[in-house]
Amino acid sequence: MSDSNTKNCKICGKIFYHPHNDICFECMARDEEDFQKVRLFLKEFPGTKINVVEEYTGVPYKKILKYLKEERLELSEASEDFLKCSKCGKPIKTGMYCSECYLKFTKELNQILSPSPASDTKEKAKMHITINKKK
Ligand SMILES: [Zn+2]
Ligand SMILES: [Zn+2]
Repeated sequence: MSDSNTKNCKICGKIFYHPHNDICFECMARDEEDFQKVRLFLKEFPGTKINVVEEYTGVPYKKILKYLKEERLELSEASEDFLKCSKCGKPIKTGMYCSECYLKFTKELNQILSPSPASDTKEKAKMHITINKKK
């Protein structure tokens, strides 16, 4: 048995074993518990300000923001709270970017991913090989 997958939990520092996760099972369970608390509270009282949610659920403001940025939660349209687009600072209700920046971002990404006429021939050859392999 190899122990190369043993690591320190990013939250509590405990040593645990998992090939992918950065946090231990206890912290993961606690995180999920907090998330459900916030989710249920917002379902019951949509539009509640985040600092009020923090007060009632005991889940830290920063953690609630993290859930919102991960798009696990969405602020209701009625909410006075909002997140800021990481690019232009426009108010948004969930995630990292506003829809405009998100569109621009995916467009740029597509341009990078699709080979332009000037792209490296080596890259093209590589892509060709992978395509053939798949067949
Ligand atoms: Zn932990
Ligand atoms: Zn934006």
